[in-house]
Amino acid sequence: MKLRPRQEQGTIPWQSDAYGHSHLGIPLEVWRSTGPCRLLVFAAIHGEEGETTTALSKALRHLTEPSPHCAVVLAANPDGLIRGTRGNARGVDLNRNFPTSDWQSDPVLHRSTLDAPRDVTLSPGDTPGSELETQALILLIRELEPEAVVALHAPLACIDDPNNSDLGRWIAERSGLPLVPDVGYPTPGAFGTWGAEQRLPVVTYEFGLITPDDAARKHVPVLVELLTRPIQQ
Ligand SMILES: [Zn+2]
Repeated sequence: MKLRPRQEQGTIPWQSDAYGHSHLGIPLEVWRSTGPCRLLVFAAIHGEEGETTTALSKALRHLTEPSPHCAVVLAANPDGLIRGTRGNARGVDLNRNFPTSDWQSDPVLHRSTLDAPRDVTLSPGDTPGSELETQALILLIRELEPEAVVALHAPLACIDDPNNSDLGRWIAERSGLPLVPDVGYPTPGAFGTWGAEQRLPVVTYEFGLITPDDAARKHVPVLVELLTRPIQQ
């Protein structure tokens, strides 16, 4: 696929569709593929991981036309993104809110920085799948029927792929990040677990602790390839 010159990469030149609305009423946007969706890539289900939105947006803006096979969600949690919070506007960690067999009602603990203790409290939601953003993402996936999903996160610096798939190995090789079978701590109600229970392969692409400039140099080329190349799994 032909790519736009850098001078023209300031805007996304085609329209998104709203696949729902956030709790605050912000449209949940998807940039659809021209052909059948084989891959969905989403960013910022954790609102404090805005570097994933910026990198994925930059990758999308390289394209002259929508991806033939890949749908893109730049912000799965727009309320958290505009407020700078990990959770949504109701204080729910959306990546602990999916209706999985291991969903728990216990508070979700996370670290304010990578070296801090896990002591900041969020909610997993009142019930599994309680949040509008969670429900909308599930309905979008049911509609698109992608063969795989890549979920962008930060800052654990790894490619989490319990299936050890060709797609996961390719992202690990291209990004230089280690391929791991899990992130090393329990994540009840996580999107990846929901995917596994739906037999939907999910690769979690965790950027490291890097500046936006480094993310643009290191990860945007990988994401551009992901959007434009024929996919493998
Ligand atoms: Zn995250």
